[in-house]
Amino acid sequence: MPKLLKLTLLAAAVVATGAYAENFPASGKNITIIVPFPAGGPTDNLAHDLANALRKPLGTTPVIENAAGTGSTIGTAKVARAAPDGYTLLLNHIGMSTMPTLYRKLAFSVPNDFEYLGIINDVPMTLVGRPSLEANSYKELSAWLAQNKGKVNLGHAGLGSASHLCGLMYQSALQTNMTVVPYKGTAPAITDLIGGQIDLLCDQTTNTMAQIEAKKVKAYAVTTSQRLNSPSFKGVPTLAESGLKNFQVTIWHGLYAPKGTPVDVLKKINDSLKIALKDPEFVKKQESLGAVVATDKRTDPAEHKKFVQAEIQKWGSVIKAAGAYAD
Ligand code: ASP
Repeated sequence: MPKLLKLTLLAAAVVATGAYAENFPASGKNITIIVPFPAGGPTDNLAHDLANALRKPLGTTPVIENAAGTGSTIGTAKVARAAPDGYTLLLNHIGMSTMPTLYRKLAFSVPNDFEYLGIINDVPMTLVGRPSLEANSYKELSAWLAQNKGKVNLGHAGLGSASHLCGLMYQSALQTNMTVVPYKGTAPAITDLIGGQIDLLCDQTTNTMAQIEAKKVKAYAVTTSQRLNSPSFKGVPTLAESGLKNFQVTIWHGLYAPKGTPVDVLKKINDSLKIALKDPEFVKKQESLGAVVATDKRTDPAEHKKFVQAEIQKWGSVIKAAGAYAD
């Protein structure tokens, strides 16, 4: 029998009997979650917490590998090309829905090159400023921005990142252009914000909260439609109530595998993810950082995919209106 046919028949038998999933993950074999942003940032921190919560249901703690750069396209492409065996996964955020419009050329297709494993959480963002900025409220920031037109530096984590999307929407709403300073992730961007090298950054609360509490950055506004309950955000207005009507952006994160990963392996990972999302320690940590763990139908693969497709449409119009593209 030709070798290829033999392998195909074997693969079909494995899928049919579910034998593959029974042995998944094989003992001694690591599952790697690729994070397309640097260590110490919000996406990376979430991946580590999720990996810990996955330990019990999967029987192993996935290893985190950071493959940062170019607004998460480098790490995402790496997973699209990886062997579809369940041992390489991707954790990425809303960037999955902005990249298809932002980049004229992408080395992968978001709808076609991935298996969808479920949404993990939703996270509000905060507009934060360097500690030496003289403005102490959003109102004062507005006046400062008006006085410093053309001189303001805004950091972000690369085209397609959450901070880029938020910054794009902010400049568009103010009808102004700031000098944008791209980083590989918001971990290095917030370090530069604290150091005063950049003026402003829009980032997930999971990254800003500790810095706000330590008074290392100034919190000006949140991007949700309602103010946040947490004591760290007491008195911090929403951008919508501060004159930027309809400004609303919440960052979601999801888990993916390369297209073609066996169905029973995907089921094992999705079942494990659903258990991990109920892990009390994981939920408590996420809540303490202002994030909301997903409990809705988006934790089902088909709904996750539908949701991402709707988000591609939604953010596509925003990006096209702002005329922001990368080649
Ligand atoms: N918060 C980053 C972003 O703006 C990603 C990261 O560094 O984790 O997309």
